[in-house]
Amino acid sequence: TAEPPQRLRVEGLTVRFGGITALSEVSFTVEPGTVHALIGPNGAGKSTLVNVLGGTYRATEGAVHYGDAELTALRPDRVAGLGVARTFQNISLALEDTVEDNLLVGRHRLMRRGLVPGMLRLPGARREEREHRETVGGIAEMLGIAHLLRTPVHTLAYGDRKRVEMGRALAARPSLLLLDEPVAGMTHGESQEMAETIRQVRRDLGLSIVLVEHDMPFVMGLAEQVTVLDFGKKIAEGTPAAVQRDPEVLRAYLGA
Ligand code: ADP
Ligand code: MG
Repeated sequence: TAEPPQRLRVEGLTVRFGGITALSEVSFTVEPGTVHALIGPNGAGKSTLVNVLGGTYRATEGAVHYGDAELTALRPDRVAGLGVARTFQNISLALEDTVEDNLLVGRHRLMRRGLVPGMLRLPGARREEREHRETVGGIAEMLGIAHLLRTPVHTLAYGDRKRVEMGRALAARPSLLLLDEPVAGMTHGESQEMAETIRQVRRDLGLSIVLVEHDMPFVMGLAEQVTVLDFGKKIAEGTPAAVQRDPEVLRAYLGA
């Protein structure tokens, strides 16, 4: 089972790529067990932020604390080891492999015994493998993809691939889940289902979620707190209702 979620504190985060400032002195806090949405127009710096949180991009300045740990100095595998899991805006699954095998990839950080006992087919390793299969089976059920476990990912519809991507992150039993545009490219109906799934995941697994979205209405019924980015800067923060009425936010979204 997962460790309890910790408070996430992003403090004065700046990320530059050569002459481009993708994030500029961004600060916000995600309270344990809540859904925090990160919204903003394309190019606002949302994915850059997720990449820093997940350890794939380096911060130029600033700090990210998850509980007592400072994440900005850590490699992605160490961040994952602290209970942080993510999805990618562009799906990154092994297309030729089955849904189950893709979900099992998410279990790797929890595989205590490593590969050799498994290859030798030792009884303990077999039991552990069975436990991993049961766990990913349960996750597949929660996500409505249990009937697809033996299906190769390349034959799946786009919406189902997005679910597998989320399932792989959940298989690591994270306490903090980073979702980068989980409904991008989905139909309205698929988006509604995904919203329900996110609610369920949060309720049943008790984790914190950072939900990155371009689409403002989607996050409104899901998040307690919203941080709005525009051109790398935080332009608003608050409840969904407050942020929705914020003149700066309307300007950023409508280009007015
Ligand atoms: P969003 O996810 O909000 O659409 P991104 O974080 O992807 O925005 O991008 C923010 C800015 O940072 C953009 O100008 C983008 O081109 C730039 N950027 C992101 N990643 C890189 C990178 N690896 N190298 C150079 N520029 C990047
Ligand atoms: Mg993005």
